[in-house]
Amino acid sequence: MTITIGGVEPFTTVDFPGRLAAVLFCLGCPLRCPYCHNKELQDFGGKPFISWETFIEFLESRKKLLDGIVFSGGEPLAQPDLYESMKIVKDAGFEIGLHTSGVNVERLKQILPLLTWVGFDVKTVFNAYEERIPHSRASTVEACLDMLIASPVELEARTTLDPRVISKEELKRLARTLAEKGVETYAIQEYRLHPAEENPPAETDVKAFFADTELLAELKSLFKSFIIRRAS
Ligand code: SF4
Repeated sequence: MTITIGGVEPFTTVDFPGRLAAVLFCLGCPLRCPYCHNKELQDFGGKPFISWETFIEFLESRKKLLDGIVFSGGEPLAQPDLYESMKIVKDAGFEIGLHTSGVNVERLKQILPLLTWVGFDVKTVFNAYEERIPHSRASTVEACLDMLIASPVELEARTTLDPRVISKEELKRLARTLAEKGVETYAIQEYRLHPAEENPPAETDVKAFFADTELLAELKSLFKSFIIRRAS
């Protein structure tokens, strides 16, 4: 039993709200978002960063120093042994956070009792999902999101604003849908240029989301907590 580890961030104060945490990046993602900043983590056959055993040694050294471990990616829900791995980490005394794009309903159901907090990527309006995000399935994303909303797990839905994937009008529609579903915390994240990207969107289109004060005010009014993350 293992999961394939593509990287480890030994300390973070921002990836698991309210907790001191480390991030475990899983290797492999079935999706192909045009703005992906973790392209080196997309390939399931890539070279692991460290073994599971080495990660467990790292965990032992962090007991009492960290509150939690965030499983990120790549896509953690694409890892067949995710439940067993999370259980080991939880039994060692850590809270479990998850970054996911919602690619596997059954696996999410299995790990749900282990989770404290989830950062859930909703990339665009559901009726445009499969056209904009290669290899995605909108019904799976929506079922995963609905399951989290109905659970006691702390949830942040978030959308990266790449104008190739979502328009301002669609963002408004998506935010209304999320609010109607019961999402209370929503974050929008500025697209950041990946150095390997050959046809990036125009900078003016990227900035336009954040210059639209009417749009931002409407989004803010829909959620208990609305977060704007600008690229630095
Ligand atoms: S879901 Fe995340 S890791 Fe996968 S392609 Fe999209 S941005 Fe990259």
